[in-house]
Amino acid sequence: MTTTTPIAVHGAAGRMGQAILRTMIGRGDVALVAALVRSGSDLEGQPLAATLGSRAPAIVCTSSLPADLTPAVLIDFSVAAAFDHALGLALERRIAFVSGTTGLSAKQQAALDGAAASIAVLWSANFSLGVALLSRLVAEAARSLPDWDCEIAEAHHSRKQDAPSGTALALGREAASARDRDFDAVARLSHVGVNAARTPGSIGFAVTRAGDIVGEHTVTFATLGERIELVHRATDRDIFARGAIVAARWIAGRPHGRYALADVLAGRN
Ligand code: NAP
Repeated sequence: MTTTTPIAVHGAAGRMGQAILRTMIGRGDVALVAALVRSGSDLEGQPLAATLGSRAPAIVCTSSLPADLTPAVLIDFSVAAAFDHALGLALERRIAFVSGTTGLSAKQQAALDGAAASIAVLWSANFSLGVALLSRLVAEAARSLPDWDCEIAEAHHSRKQDAPSGTALALGREAASARDRDFDAVARLSHVGVNAARTPGSIGFAVTRAGDIVGEHTVTFATLGERIELVHRATDRDIFARGAIVAARWIAGRPHGRYALADVLAGRN
């Protein structure tokens, strides 16, 4: 018999939050027990049915997790400024934590490592299965073609706050690590100015923000006379919602530690 995983969602008013809520409503293996929104949000105190229709569970959106609720997992897709609050809540209530919030600082990444000493934690810049494979292909190409130039271009909707995207940075880290290079030393986050020629071994980034683009990443490996382009295009943000829910199901009840989406994929094979 399939167990049902009780889940709280932080950032429930956002586009990803709403996609996760919508996706959860159609599934029997997860139960939405709390939808957490920013204090003062238009949705605070509103029943879920107001935005998600009559099939939504009979709960209202709140800005804090009711004391009598013990979800197995807290899923966070919010903003970097609200991330500390979400992680603090998971730690305080001993709830497994799954987050896709991007634009995190080094200190916030370190906080994830710290939290992993007490709770199960899984953060990913991208919850798509396709991007997980792209990441492996990038590592393979970077390792096999160590002298080729590597450039990463990404495009997202015009409301996205952080740039380059968390996924672009993660792909860059993958390439640098496959070449045994320190990412921070080789990353060129933009090519600007009169002395902007690329230095050998650097990993360059280019950013587009326009319209409603869900997410596109192109990793180019180029040398004299030839180039390889590895491209992933997301056309529907529900892929990230599904990935986050699969990750939440997988992490529920696991011992404390820091996990990655690759662990979930490995576990599913
Ligand atoms: P969005 O539509 O701007 O949603 C962000 C939400 O966070 C907003 O609804 C905002 O509320 C809410 N928020 C702000 N402060 C909060 C607080 N203190 N408590 C609770 N909620 C709070 O953005 P999005 O497109 O959904 O993306 C959300 C995050 O996920 C971003 O970091 C994005 O880059 C990332 N993302 C990750 C993946 C992945 O696969 N890892 C995929 C897509 C997006 P208000 O509207 O009330 O201000």
